[in-house]
Amino acid sequence: MKLNTKTKKNMKLSTINLFDKKPLIIAGPCSAETEEQLMATSKALAASGKVGMIRAGIWKPRTRPGSFEGVGVPGLEWMKAVKEETGLPVTIEVANFKHVFEALKYKIDVLWIGARTTANPFSVQEIAEALIGTDATVFIKNPVNPDIDLWVGAFERLHKSGISKLAAVHRGFASYGKSKYRNDPHWQIPIELKRRLPELPIVCDPSHICGNRMCLPQIAQRALDLDFAGLMIESHISPDEAWSDKDQQVTPDDLVTLLDALVLRTPDIQSEDLSRTLESLRNEINEIDDELLNLLSSRMKVADKIGVYKRNNGITILQNERWNEIIEKANAIGSKIGLSAQFIERFLKAVHQESINHQNEVMNRTTINNS
Ligand code: PEP
Ligand code: MN
Repeated sequence: MKLNTKTKKNMKLSTINLFDKKPLIIAGPCSAETEEQLMATSKALAASGKVGMIRAGIWKPRTRPGSFEGVGVPGLEWMKAVKEETGLPVTIEVANFKHVFEALKYKIDVLWIGARTTANPFSVQEIAEALIGTDATVFIKNPVNPDIDLWVGAFERLHKSGISKLAAVHRGFASYGKSKYRNDPHWQIPIELKRRLPELPIVCDPSHICGNRMCLPQIAQRALDLDFAGLMIESHISPDEAWSDKDQQVTPDDLVTLLDALVLRTPDIQSEDLSRTLESLRNEINEIDDELLNLLSSRMKVADKIGVYKRNNGITILQNERWNEIIEKANAIGSKIGLSAQFIERFLKAVHQESINHQNEVMNRTTINNS
């Protein structure tokens, strides 16, 4: 992932007051279903004193046709009533020009762009253009696919339309096959987003990452420990009867229990003692990293020599048996020295790929010499 300095320099963001008190908790049902369901849920959430904004889907992007696709415009009247009744700002998802037009008409405080929409530059552009000349606040969920440039591109499109009150929502990424998550968090992606756009507040949406209630606390805590600016958690007055995403919604009471159990930590290192301890541990890490890189460099030099040998003897670069042997040996050691099998595999694959690249370079050099 390359640092896009252009993005960093050109994107001047305005502060969003909603984040004055961190973390901002956004809660509400996946979908607005009836005025009663929305109002009862919102009132209970507001009464907790822990929620800073109410969410609800009015138009629902569903994976397959035939399921409930949202109540549409009447739901905007209900959102207006929720705002009046609770005094809290409200947010809904918009996916096209018409949604933006209606949301602005009903003075919805924050618009969010959903994951499926962020993945489509045409739709994001349409929304960006519909917002020209407004003072809208827009939250952009990550695209369904783990593509950080697509996510950053959406911010750039909005920003080019003059929208500078922007925030990100990390809701995880789709993966094929078995996973313990509904959407894999791939934490390194929001971390990289924070590095590229340091002023952009990032909210985590544990509901769509988990897809179930049980893992919500773990993901919410993880997000706070990574200094996320807020959480968006789906809450429904009777989750088991929800018309969409019922497995992941929690009652307002359960949400309060979940929030009360979270540990809040600060990114600021205040005391001198703490700062000295951290500095010395970080120095240790720096030294180990240097050693690691030097070792990897030595490993590649050996790989180059093997490349020369294979070239001179007409042997292919990839030797499957040898590769299996490396993985199995490392797996056996890894469990004894506290490294997860998943990490070992990812690390060794990257190292192996770099060795292959080196050998490829050695074997296919145009001016062949023997060194
Ligand atoms: C939602 O928030 O209900 C929703 C549809 O989210 P996502 O775009 O993350 O799937
Ligand atoms: Mn949902």
